[in-house]
Amino acid sequence: MRIEIRHVSMTYQSPDGELEALRDVSFEVADGSFVSIVGPSGCGKSTLLSLIAGLERPTEGAILLDGEAVTAPTEKVGFMPQRDQLFEWRTIWRNVMLGPEIRGEDTKARQAAVRALLEQYALAGFAGKQPAQLSGGMRQRCALIRTLAVEPSVLLLDEPFSALDYQTRLAVSADISRIIRQTNKTAVLVTHDISEAISMSDRIVVLTHRPGRLRSVHDLDAFADVPVLERRAMPAFQAMFNTIWEELDVNVS
Ligand code: ADP
Ligand code: MG
Repeated sequence: MRIEIRHVSMTYQSPDGELEALRDVSFEVADGSFVSIVGPSGCGKSTLLSLIAGLERPTEGAILLDGEAVTAPTEKVGFMPQRDQLFEWRTIWRNVMLGPEIRGEDTKARQAAVRALLEQYALAGFAGKQPAQLSGGMRQRCALIRTLAVEPSVLLLDEPFSALDYQTRLAVSADISRIIRQTNKTAVLVTHDISEAISMSDRIVVLTHRPGRLRSVHDLDAFADVPVLERRAMPAFQAMFNTIWEELDVNVS
C-alpha cells in the first residue's frame, strides 16, 4: 500500500493555546517499502503516525493510502505502540488473538495463521503463559504478532524497541525487519536511533526540531538487499550515520 504525506501541518489546540507540531511535511512511502522517521524529541513523529493511522486529522494537507484520503482509522493499518501494551491477565494466545476477537474474526483459519506466526517467532511453546513470564524481546515479538494478526497492509511502529537492551534490540530489529519484508508489508518506523533507521529502512525521513519540518530524505539504495546486522559493517553505514547526525544538529553540551 502506497502512503502519501502531502503538505501536512498539524497544530494542536489546548487550553494553554496552540501548539504547532508539524509544518508542511511531504514525502512518500512506496508500496512494500520500509521508511524510518528520525528527528529530535517532540518534533511530531508520533503525531505523524497518528495522522497516518487516522486517529487525528491534519490541520492542513492530506494523507493518502493508495490515493485515497485518510479520514478515519482503517483495518488496513496496524499500529505497534512503543510500550507493548500486552494485557497481563490474558495469556499470550488471548493477547495475540485480541484483534480478531474484537472484530469477530476468531475463525479457524485466523487461528491457524496466528499459530504459524507464533511458531515462526519461537513463541509457540508460550501460548498458554502470561506476559510476565516472557523476556522483553519475547514480549515485543508478541506485540508484533498481535499487530500482524489482523493482517494489516501497513505497519506503523512507534519506537518499538526502546524498552529493550542493546543485544535484544539488535536481534529483535533483525527479526522484525525480516518478517515485514517476507510478508511484503509497507512499514513506517519512528525511532531516535540513527543506526536502527539505517539498518532497517529503504528510506529515511529526517525532521527538524518542533515544529517538525522536512529536513531531508535519504534513499538507502546502497544497502538494498543487505540484511539488518550486515549493514552495520558496511563503510557506507558510518558515512550515512554522520550525515544524519549532522542534520539532526544534536547539541551536546
Ligand atoms: P515526538 O513523537 O516526535 O516526540 P509528538 O508527536 O509526541 O513528538 O509531539 C509533538 C508535540 O506536540 C509535542 O510538543 C507534544 O507535547 C505535542 N502534542 C502531542 N500530542 C498532543 C495533544 N494531543 N495535544 C496537545 N499537544 C500535543
Ligand atoms: Mg513520540
